[in-house]
Amino acid sequence: MTSSKKVIFRNDVPKRISEISLKALSFYPELESHTIEFMVDDNITKSVMQAQPKFVSMLGFGKRTYLIKISRHFKLKGKKIPIDDLPEDVLLGWIGHELGHIMDYLHKNTWSMIIFGIGYLTSKSFIISAERAADTYAVNHGLGEYILKTKDFILNQAGMSPSYLDKINRLYLPPEEVMIMIEELEKN
Ligand SMILES: [Zn+2]
Repeated sequence: MTSSKKVIFRNDVPKRISEISLKALSFYPELESHTIEFMVDDNITKSVMQAQPKFVSMLGFGKRTYLIKISRHFKLKGKKIPIDDLPEDVLLGWIGHELGHIMDYLHKNTWSMIIFGIGYLTSKSFIISAERAADTYAVNHGLGEYILKTKDFILNQAGMSPSYLDKINRLYLPPEEVMIMIEELEKN
């Protein structure tokens, strides 16, 4: 298998999304040897993107593979638009964050992943630490400025509903903390 085969874009992934995904992946050399599949999905509930191990690959003896699901549409100020109409930097930060989740999964065995899955569904503090881990991986891999752009877009430009913003504020790292992480990184 050639290295390019390790990234799979299912048929209906828009070209712009696949290009930006490859750009995001270039920040993560550690992911080069892992199979990551991208798909667009009409039925993701409550989130715009999701990263997960492919369940079947967790049961087998081969190498685990990962799936990133991307919602086909985005609700911008109440109007449904195609996801690939979002600004490039915002998408880069968003996909970079999802790849941060995959970095986090690399170090977990099957049992840890199962516990992780249950924790994510049942515990707020668990979600908070998983989201912090994903952002930390993204910042440490040089995607900090894009993570900030994505956060600014979600928090200040997208016209998200108050309940969604409330959820984001409770569970995700605030931009101020990401800025501190970037500053720390630049010092070293
Ligand atoms: Zn996340």
